Amino acid sequence: MAVNKFYEVKGKEIKHLKPSCPRCGAGHFMAEHKNRLSCGRCGYTEFRK
Ligand SMILES: [Zn+2]
Repeated sequence: MAVNKFYEVKGKEIKHLKPSCPRCGAGHFMAEHKNRLSCGRCGYTEFRK
């Protein structure tokens, strides 16, 4: 009699905290681009180094 044990491997959830727009405030997240972040609401753009 074989007993099969199943192990649930839960992948570590990587919570990516999106930066919020300083103009629109928290809750309005900025879209990420290659080297910049931009807010789709007000157009605020922040360049990344
Ligand atoms: Zn904004």
